Amino acid sequence: MNIIELKNVCKDYQVGDHVNRALKDINLEIKEQEFVVILGPSGCGKTTLLNIIGGIDNPTSGKVLINGKELDYENEKELTNHRKDNVGFIFQFFNLIDELTVFQNVNVINYDKERSMELLEYVDLKDYCNDYPKNLSGGQMQRVAIARALNRNSKILLCDEPTGALDEQNTKKIIDLIKKIHDEKGLTIIMVTHNESLINAATTVLRMLDGKIIKEEHLINE
Ligand code: ADP
Ligand code: MG
Repeated sequence: MNIIELKNVCKDYQVGDHVNRALKDINLEIKEQEFVVILGPSGCGKTTLLNIIGGIDNPTSGKVLINGKELDYENEKELTNHRKDNVGFIFQFFNLIDELTVFQNVNVINYDKERSMELLEYVDLKDYCNDYPKNLSGGQMQRVAIARALNRNSKILLCDEPTGALDEQNTKKIIDLIKKIHDEKGLTIIMVTHNESLINAATTVLRMLDGKIIKEEHLINE
């Protein structure tokens, strides 16, 4: 079964008296454990697509199915559960809470303390658990954000340009970590990136242009 399916998804943004058509009739099927990379120029709809899959934005028309069940964007409770149970998010600028320690950021909704520490060890940051984000490098901050996302124990990991704000050395560490997560944890990963090495790790590459998927490549990569 497809873990994610989009049927005729459109997204319009009303900007003054103008309608901005961010997504135009997107059809997509993603199987469990796929590693999907989304490519395309700025403004083509990549973030909008991830946000709709993650339930932090809603489509104007069309359907999104998670494990075969249509997501009801009108039902706030269902949507909250979807965000909580099904998806983890990794953002370009990490989105950590500056006032919380590394441990508290990972343990942000009071997960199991031992599990949070295990995840910090998994991302190689156990020694930094009592530090604050401002004392970390960008790459370390992204690893905290990854540990936080993994804490959800969800099957889907959505990543929006996760190495976009990092230098070469930190980029390499994040790439290795994301590949390791895909290999070891069996997650379905959907990632917007321009990084060649991540594109090479993908099982599916989607190219977007002007709100549409213009090319879909399935690569044999296992
Ligand atoms: P990408 O991530 O590929 O750069 P986005 O998904 O962010 O593209 O944006 C797609 C289009 O939708 C762009 O034209 C952008 O300006 C527009 N857009 C995105 N979010 C909003 C919003 N909240 N209000 C109005 N227009 C938006
Ligand atoms: Mg974007």
